[in-house]
Amino acid sequence: MEALFGKTLEELKVVAAENGLPGFTAKQMAQWLYTKKVSEIDDMTNLSKDARGRLKEKYEIGRVVPSKVQASVDGTKKYLYPAQKGLFIEAAYIPEKDRHTLCISSQIGCKMGCLFCMTGKQGFQGQLTAGEIVNQVISLPESDQLTNIVYMGMGEPLDNVDNVLKSLEIFTSDWGMGWSPRRFNVSTIGVEPAMRRFIEESDAHLAISLHTPFNEERKKLMPIEQVYPIEEVIDALKEYDFGRQRRISFEYIMFDGVNDTPAHVKGLTKLLNGIRCRINLIRFHPIPDSPLRGSSDEKIKWFSDQLNKKGLTTTIRRSRGEDIYAACGLLSTKNMLKEDT
Ligand code: SF4
Repeated sequence: MEALFGKTLEELKVVAAENGLPGFTAKQMAQWLYTKKVSEIDDMTNLSKDARGRLKEKYEIGRVVPSKVQASVDGTKKYLYPAQKGLFIEAAYIPEKDRHTLCISSQIGCKMGCLFCMTGKQGFQGQLTAGEIVNQVISLPESDQLTNIVYMGMGEPLDNVDNVLKSLEIFTSDWGMGWSPRRFNVSTIGVEPAMRRFIEESDAHLAISLHTPFNEERKKLMPIEQVYPIEEVIDALKEYDFGRQRRISFEYIMFDGVNDTPAHVKGLTKLLNGIRCRINLIRFHPIPDSPLRGSSDEKIKWFSDQLNKKGLTTTIRRSRGEDIYAACGLLSTKNMLKEDT
């Protein structure tokens, strides 16, 4: 059975045409799928019985609910969702006073091999479909409370750019969920060609994982640097006009004695010269079998102050969900699945 969930309006029009249904059925199906959030074709009550019968011969809705949840002492929750081929993905729900964020996955595992990341250690097991990406939002028990979605869970979103763009189309179109693109932030390590496509075809915010301004150091932390050096990625960004509404931010995980020195302040100032952006300084959570340690809170504050003096805007990110491995770089289904055995 093929899933209807995850199809765009254009694709639903093809479904309607191929099954001899009137053209307007496509819009009705989109409403049932993305606004009314039905889980059975029979729930699409403004479609004729005959139309529903024909659809049921080939299609199912294709939504799945989380199979497990872990709650942190700080209110963060980590949900495990079943995905294709019997595999699993995770999404982290982070409630705050006036912001309820969901951090969603875009791939099952990841092939990018960043040194500091648990998902990278898990390896790559598959691309999520647009339906599997959108499902994390719609099938979340707290779905109606969400204000922001960040593509910062498992995987490199721009290594699955087709499905990420398709999911954004469903989230932001009038026929889909109708959310503002400003409620979405897509994070990349800098896959330049796909980043250009994302900038041109979407209005969502963009976050770049930077972590050091120096090539040799970045190559050791993030192998992608060998293919798309960070200067080239930043030069590419400078070619676009992001307007005042669209935000670019740089993620900077702070590793003790590695990327938190005066030389890094200087390097960052030079690299980011001329870009209107914010740098998010993130505390590192040590992962098993890694020599990397996080900078102290004092060091992070010092680093932030130095960058501010140079005219760069920074935010020090509060750490959430560390006790349930929901914090940045800690998503890996291994932990959640392990507890079942
Ligand atoms: Fe993949 Fe992102 Fe982890 Fe790098 S940090 S290995 S791109 S999930």
